[in-house]
Amino acid sequence: MTDTIVVGAGIAGITAARLLRAAGHRVVVLEARDRVGGRIWTDRTAGFCVDRGASWIHGLTGNPLTTLVSALGMETREFTVGSFQAGGRPIADHDASRRLLDDEATRRWTTDVGTADDLLRATVAASGDDESYATAAERALAATGWEPERADRVRVFYRHRTEEQCGAEIERVAAHALDEDAVEGDEVIFPGGYDVLPRTLAEGLDVRPGKTVTAVTRSAAGVRVDTRDESFEAAHVIVTVPLGVLKAGAIAFTPALPDTVAGPIARLGMGVFNKVFLQFPDRFWQDGVYAIRQHGEAGVPWHSWYDVSVVSGRPMLLTFAGGAWGREIEQKTDEEVVSSVLGALREIYDDCVPDPVAHWITRWGVDPLALGSYSYVAVGSSHDDHDALAGPVDGVLHFAGEATWARDPATVHGALLSGHRAAERILGSPIPLAGLARGVVRS
Ligand SMILES: Cc1cc2nc3c(=O)[nH]c(=O)nc-3n(C[C@H](O)[C@H](O)[C@H](O)COP(=O)(O)OP(=O)(O)OC[C@H]3O[C@@H](n4cnc5c(N)ncnc54)[C@H](O)[C@@H]3O)c2cc1C
Repeated sequence: MTDTIVVGAGIAGITAARLLRAAGHRVVVLEARDRVGGRIWTDRTAGFCVDRGASWIHGLTGNPLTTLVSALGMETREFTVGSFQAGGRPIADHDASRRLLDDEATRRWTTDVGTADDLLRATVAASGDDESYATAAERALAATGWEPERADRVRVFYRHRTEEQCGAEIERVAAHALDEDAVEGDEVIFPGGYDVLPRTLAEGLDVRPGKTVTAVTRSAAGVRVDTRDESFEAAHVIVTVPLGVLKAGAIAFTPALPDTVAGPIARLGMGVFNKVFLQFPDRFWQDGVYAIRQHGEAGVPWHSWYDVSVVSGRPMLLTFAGGAWGREIEQKTDEEVVSSVLGALREIYDDCVPDPVAHWITRWGVDPLALGSYSYVAVGSSHDDHDALAGPVDGVLHFAGEATWARDPATVHGALLSGHRAAERILGSPIPLAGLARGVVRS
């Protein structure tokens, strides 16, 4: 008999399965897609890597991914702009008239964001669960005493920050949603593709692709997990499907989930954050900048472009669409999206912007196996909801995945740590995370 069934072969599921198997458990991983990795998904169709899901390790310091990717020999590039920083690295910032900020103006801008952020932290600390990030931001901006135009620029920046970091509009996001968002140390991306991580860790595991789980039934004897064409039984199950899938009720739980878990599923938000990559025949933007940014209303809806040429080896920019705009572009054709992005770039760089030779556009919100990009603390929910979502329920049903990790939701490392926690709970004893890389041979 199987000891544990893991539903979902994203990084959370693979981590749990690998640790349990190393402890001698018989584990089966049921995955609906025909690939492992879930929201880590590297597209290599063009002959180079395009990460359509996660790209960054958000902070190397104290992050379990740092030692793991090093142990796996994965190549990394420093790229510390992945958490919507205002400064810290060269960014080509443009003012409301689309003029490039000089060094002094850039310094004033980053200082303004720092000043407002200090006030915002204090405002958030005094906020309850029912307050939005928008309300907290307004209070912080009012406390600056700045003239409207100066405050407006930071206000728009805050709007874009929640859209990128949470995939949701600033009014929907709780004041506390970004409490855990500080980045410790540099950020890095992967020229060889992020999916090397889940694919390597999955080697040797019993992963069954094409198995869409429809029902989980628990009893004193354990669990039965039904897919569209087969049933599996085990002592435990770890469900790692994205929060969007849980919210949609795509898996029927019998008996019904208790409020301790159903409550967080209902309260937490599932954000939408999409990527648009444009590959150009030639480079038309400045050398040596990590990103291009358009400030103020002129940056609505497109405001930030990241130079990811270091990954592809081709002139390439990456921009994002989060929140309502992220959902809106999912209804547009590729041509409409590309033309819209080009229009915004041409406002800045005029006719220097050639037509792209290729593009990649994600649509995570309508992907039935994700139904969103990542979770966030919505108004009326709290960070505790993330951890509560993990269960366990009746000692046999566990949940893992980024949405179940309060310390760092919406990240790869948060998902990984949640898989580790689920494995430890099933074993009833601590497991060193270092064991994850043991026995890995990279082909
Ligand atoms: C566009 C985008 C950019 C991101 N950027 C970053 C970043 O730069 N850095 C970072 O740290 N994080 C980033 N993230 C977040 C990160 O990708 C996720 O937090 C993490 O990969 C989630 O892992 P997981 O195992 O929890 O879920 P998933 O990877 O989603 O795994 C869950 C698995 O369950 C499967 N599944 C769903 N339904 C069923 C079913 N009914 N039956 C069987 N299987 C099912 C899915 O196919 C999937 O494989 C990004 C996410 C997106 C979408």
